[in-house]
Amino acid sequence: MPLVDTSNPRIVDEIMGNFAARGGRHYGEQVTELQHALQCATFAQRNGESPNLVAACLLHDYGHLLHDLGEDIADKGVDARHEEVGANWLKRHFVEEVVEPVRLHVAAKRYLCWKEADYLAGLSEASLLSLKLQGGPMNDEEGREFEALPHCDAAVRLRRYDDMGKVTDMETPAVTEFRTLIESFVRKSD
Ligand code: FE
Repeated sequence: MPLVDTSNPRIVDEIMGNFAARGGRHYGEQVTELQHALQCATFAQRNGESPNLVAACLLHDYGHLLHDLGEDIADKGVDARHEEVGANWLKRHFVEEVVEPVRLHVAAKRYLCWKEADYLAGLSEASLLSLKLQGGPMNDEEGREFEALPHCDAAVRLRRYDDMGKVTDMETPAVTEFRTLIESFVRKSD
């Protein structure tokens, strides 16, 4: 008899609860963490991205909601490695197609600074500040290594929505409207 997987609603409840409890944190731009997550996911959805990428967009900064280091850590010169913290937590519950673009979204910023001449000039002040802490633009070797990674394309796409999701007063669906989508990427226990 197949085992009933009861983990799905529980973990997604936890995520919804964490967005409600900590999503009001300032993202370092003109928006909160929750608004930023919703904007990224909404832009991706409007562009017809695959559901796993939309889910990754919603969860890409979840690592920011898992630490208690304060909202202005970048201003203090600290890189919390939120992409690793977030991806490592998500990996326990979600499929690779959601987790790995999250892990690589900071590397994707460093990559795009190397790949595209105009990219760096378009970054927001907060993104430029954190770029320094994250190691600055990639060099040729790092750039080529990044291009060889299986989730490189998804990470770059995610990154572009990340950069867009900083709009003051943008209308988006509520986070609960992404619930079913997120649930569909919870790993089934075997
Ligand atoms: Fe972000």
